Amino acid sequence: MFALGQDFFAAGMLDRAESVFQELLESNSKWISKASVCESLRTIYEQTQEWQKAIEATQCTKKSLKKDDINNSGNAINLDSLITHYYCELADESLQKGNLHEVDGFITKAKKSYKQSTRLMSLEGDIAFHQKQYKESLNHYLSAIKQDSRLLSMLFNKIDESAKNAGEVQYLQKKLLLIHQEHPDNNVFEAILNLADTYGSEHEVDKLVDEVLSEKKLSIKSIFKASGYVKDKYANDNPDEPSKGIGLVKVHQALENHLQGVPSFRCEHCGYKMHDYLWRCPACNHWDTVDQA
Ligand SMILES: [Zn+2]
Repeated sequence: MFALGQDFFAAGMLDRAESVFQELLESNSKWISKASVCESLRTIYEQTQEWQKAIEATQCTKKSLKKDDINNSGNAINLDSLITHYYCELADESLQKGNLHEVDGFITKAKKSYKQSTRLMSLEGDIAFHQKQYKESLNHYLSAIKQDSRLLSMLFNKIDESAKNAGEVQYLQKKLLLIHQEHPDNNVFEAILNLADTYGSEHEVDKLVDEVLSEKKLSIKSIFKASGYVKDKYANDNPDEPSKGIGLVKVHQALENHLQGVPSFRCEHCGYKMHDYLWRCPACNHWDTVDQA
């Protein structure tokens, strides 16, 4: 029966796969591991986006593993983190509908499952943002990216808006420089340059660009951003000799051409490329594996 369920699943006949696995679960057979059946059901509900059922299936897997005394801590899939993702999906749906009371309920449950989830922090940022509490949303977003800077590319616009509305642009610029000291990566570097582009920069950013360009291994996108920064700075500092900066302008343009149409994100697990950030890779179905390409 288990093999039959798997065949239905592989053939995309999810309804049939679900009934086979449900029947198997109810049969309480000692010949099959309950955890694998629940895990199969979880995968189905993820695909059909029935999050409440996905939560129940994951809790069933957790319980069965505990009963069989199998330690899940070394498991590649962190079940608590999955449950939190599902509650966040539900909360997201309610937030879209403007049903804030329901959102609160889901958040409380999500917190119980996996408090350190960056998805949860980012969602709390969205809620504060929705309620126009911009200083609060800014801080939620910052805690999320401090833990996982990959989220910056997705959250940047909301972070920028929050800081602008709260009158905290300088605070944000300082925070990002501090985060870059701890995690000197492309995502944080690009965000610093984006802000400098919009709001002007300070001496610290000049120093950083100089340092990073000569010492770090950068992504093409970061080199593109940095060359734009250097180009604009040159033009500002030398308004009388624009022709001398023309080489830099051309390199910057060439990098821009190179990046056009290139997908911005890539799954670290399977290599699948995509244009938007997604919490779950649509190719391999892993959660939290998407990063800048
Ligand atoms: Zn993938």
